[in-house]
Amino acid sequence: MPELPEVETVARDLQRWVADAQIADAEVRWPRTISHPQPASLFVDQLRGARIARVGRRAKSVLIHLTDGRVMTVALRMTGALIVAPPGAPDDPYARVVFRLADGRELRYRDVRKFGRIGLWEGGGLRRRSRTRTRRRSGVRERPAPHRVGDLFGRHGPEPLATTFSAARFTERLQGRSARLKTLLLDQSFVAGVGNIYADEALWRARLHPLRPANTLAAAEVRRLHRAIRSVLRQGIVNRGASFSDYVDAAGEEGANAERLMVYRRTGEPCYRCGRPIQRIVVGQRSTHFCPRCQRLPDEEGRA
Ligand SMILES: [Zn+2]
Repeated sequence: MPELPEVETVARDLQRWVADAQIADAEVRWPRTISHPQPASLFVDQLRGARIARVGRRAKSVLIHLTDGRVMTVALRMTGALIVAPPGAPDDPYARVVFRLADGRELRYRDVRKFGRIGLWEGGGLRRRSRTRTRRRSGVRERPAPHRVGDLFGRHGPEPLATTFSAARFTERLQGRSARLKTLLLDQSFVAGVGNIYADEALWRARLHPLRPANTLAAAEVRRLHRAIRSVLRQGIVNRGASFSDYVDAAGEEGANAERLMVYRRTGEPCYRCGRPIQRIVVGQRSTHFCPRCQRLPDEEGRA
């Protein structure tokens, strides 16, 4: 599943290749891909003739900003991909939505398993800081249906690569959290964009056990984890993402980060730091890979 580095790679490619392009028409071949507006024919009507201003990312979604202020969101989920096809390229049987650009190219939304979703929203609300936990938990009122693009991300935590995501802010967010580190890193309301791959990689780099309760970390460990999260994500972007199954960039090419990972899917192989075999456990139904020697729980510290 594409995580922050993979989605960021796609967004940067699209910024280079389709910013300023006009969407002449769109064809929806799998209507359930369109989450808003509905029906899909209305989505097409509202999009026809729109011009792309720029392409960005929030959490694990690609954001295609239109010149009129509206924003198209693309959540790639499991197997989604956004690929720019030159004029005359052979058709793709897995293209669920095809955006025909005025210059003859196509922007194709390809999705083998069809879990991804595309929406078209009014702009605004993206810069709002996420609400505090207490307020979110005490709220019993039904949330209104999302209208502005920012409403979709109201429950998401901060962007870990933003300059505002400082060690101090990370420390503040960890306070009072008793969840296990692996579970917390996967929680999109804690920090946005980290998934299974980069959570395991960050914990190995920070030498922290995935089952460690978050509120037992010493200040130095918190700083190490903050640094580790940011560096594994940056490395993922530099290597254009990790391709384990269907992830490809906007040219349809695989990323090079999978073979540069330290623990993820390396069960039984030697740790690059100490040589011990990497172990796999299941945390919250997710495969978790770690080094039993470099990443010990505090009550194991004296041993081995
Ligand atoms: Zn090790």
